[in-house]
Amino acid sequence: MHKYYPVIKPGVLEIYCGPMKSGKTRELLNRVDKLNYLPEEVKFDIFKPVLDTRDPVVSSRFGSLSYDCKFADEKSPYEILEKMNPASMLVAIDESQFFHGGIEEVVKELIGNNVNVVVGGLDLDFRGEPFGKMDYLLSMADEVYKLRGVCDYHGCGSPATRTQRLIGGEPAPYDSEIVLIGDEEEGYECRCFDHHIVPSSPTSEGLRQGTLIFDESKQRRLFYDDHPNLTH
Ligand SMILES: [Zn+2]
Repeated sequence: MHKYYPVIKPGVLEIYCGPMKSGKTRELLNRVDKLNYLPEEVKFDIFKPVLDTRDPVVSSRFGSLSYDCKFADEKSPYEILEKMNPASMLVAIDESQFFHGGIEEVVKELIGNNVNVVVGGLDLDFRGEPFGKMDYLLSMADEVYKLRGVCDYHGCGSPATRTQRLIGGEPAPYDSEIVLIGDEEEGYECRCFDHHIVPSSPTSEGLRQGTLIFDESKQRRLFYDDHPNLTH
């Protein structure tokens, strides 16, 4: 039986989510860093999906904190259970949005075994829709920290909740690939809702057919009907 340490919350799922450049990994590492002040017998693991090969360590874009991590195949999330130290009292999983179905079962098993699970990831993809299994994990979570960045759109600076994907400097259309790794610095920006632009995005307004387009004169996006005959 382990001694009780208040910085470890047995069976609790914590999630740090938000758009790119909102400090998710920094928050996750700050959270895990506290365990370094506990006696050495306290074990923990940090996992990342294999496809995120930018860096063999989980490191923060902003800070100096970095930790060695273990990799699990995003298509086989159960590798987390196989590769973790059985004595780990906390398991952190960064870039969780890339894990395929099964990640929710892995998390359930961990919290069922009184492991403290700390998840980091993008809650929304570049389309502004739930990314991977993050919606399911967020529903299960005990503690959710929604992080916001600062809108990169020139002159805006508003709190930003969306990830803008750019291809050749232009907003990526709705039907472009969800996962594109390796060019984040050039290919993605942090944007507020008004400056998040997804050309050819279907609307959720029932039978109305239309698109959200960016209005240059108003410097924000607006809804326009594709069928002028239907507008009043
Ligand atoms: Zn903005």
